[in-house]
Amino acid sequence: MNAHAVDVVVIGAGAAGMMCAAIAGQRGRRVLLIEHHHAVGEKIRISGGGRCNFTNVNAGPANYLSQNPDFCRSALARYTPRDFIALVDRHRIAWHEKKLGQLFCDGSATAIVDLLRAECERGRVEWRQPCPVDGVTHEGGAFVVATPQGPVRAPSLVVATGGLSVPKIGATPFGYRLAAQFGLPVVPPRPALVPLAFAPDVLARFGDLAGVSLDAEVACGGARFREHLLLTHRGLSGPAILQVSSYWDGRSPLSIDTLPGVDAAAWLVAGRGGPAQLHNLLATRLPRRFAQAWCDAHDVARPVRELPERRVREIAAGLHRWQVLPSGTLGWNKAEVTLGGVDTRSLSSKTLMANAVRGLHFVGEVVDVTGWLGGYNFQWAWASGHAAGTAV
Ligand SMILES: Cc1cc2nc3c(=O)[nH]c(=O)nc-3n(C[C@H](O)[C@H](O)[C@H](O)COP(=O)(O)OP(=O)(O)OC[C@H]3O[C@@H](n4cnc5c(N)ncnc54)[C@H](O)[C@@H]3O)c2cc1C
Repeated sequence: MNAHAVDVVVIGAGAAGMMCAAIAGQRGRRVLLIEHHHAVGEKIRISGGGRCNFTNVNAGPANYLSQNPDFCRSALARYTPRDFIALVDRHRIAWHEKKLGQLFCDGSATAIVDLLRAECERGRVEWRQPCPVDGVTHEGGAFVVATPQGPVRAPSLVVATGGLSVPKIGATPFGYRLAAQFGLPVVPPRPALVPLAFAPDVLARFGDLAGVSLDAEVACGGARFREHLLLTHRGLSGPAILQVSSYWDGRSPLSIDTLPGVDAAAWLVAGRGGPAQLHNLLATRLPRRFAQAWCDAHDVARPVRELPERRVREIAAGLHRWQVLPSGTLGWNKAEVTLGGVDTRSLSSKTLMANAVRGLHFVGEVVDVTGWLGGYNFQWAWASGHAAGTAV
């Protein structure tokens, strides 16, 4: 069969793929976008609790993890949060800042999917969807993408198939396999921005506290985040935990300050002057159920004044440095993103093209660039999609 000829094939109609296709199409390139799932932009639709935290005004290289931390610098500098906000404004999508520079739609996240579809339409992007990719070959300087609807031939191929989280809405390891096929190294992918599981002994003590949340500062692997921490029926979640999960090495304990900004030793030692039970005193600054469980777990459920000062100081130190060794993460179904991916040392930071394979680009989460929680991952998708879209 004769292959359908275009300038650019983009595989994956998520955030980065649609952005890249729209930009390339609006530059006059003939673009074909292939998506295997029955819906496009599914992660956008479910993101941010249905309101899509579409960027973060503070996004900068320091908010990303990668084996090659400077790689994201160029693309982020050339397509900034301001650029995406201007696009959102052009489409008259109402938005607000929630906290910490995080921007959300006032209404449904589907407005962002509609925006990307409309931008693709402006660029006359052609679609094949739902349509699987059967294979890719490289012949005479062009890529031939085999699909059940016939082969497509293009000098440029952009792989935007995302990471491995939430497989039920379309995630596949396609991008990593294609990278390997073309000899590009892949940093082993693992779940990130993911809840963590308690080991059985800790679960026995704290597993009943599902739903309790506290303001905490959680440290791990050189990173430290002060945000909410949520206890669940399996372990720990909430923004503070999701953030440090990306830095967790699978072996070291997390250090949790349950009373950040409080001098717990001074406060509790002063409490020895009164008749209060320790858990009641703790409950004035911590959730009551957590205070009770903490005292039970440490066998200190009694009046504070009955505890020697040395013991009270130990308890204060323990509340500032609760050491928790998770037994694991809750895995791909619960992870928001993937750590690792196509090794950036084999890509151009300007064009996202493979140094060794002319015309082959990787954008978005399939690349070894992983953002913090808070709109940073979409900003990488927009910026990397834009970088490749202006280069193909
Ligand atoms: C529950 C949840 C909430 C999130 N909330 C936020 C948030 O509020 N803010 C934020 O910044 N980030 C958020 N993220 C992360 C964000 O969604 C991703 O980082 C972002 O979508 C990555 O964009 P991408 O285009 O690289 O990949 P994706 O958006 O995952 O798109 C990849 C596309 O490729 C398709 N595909 C995969 N394999 C193939 C194949 N073999 N053939 C053809 N197509 C294929 C997929 O179906 C998909 O459409 C969230 C993630 C999850 C899971």
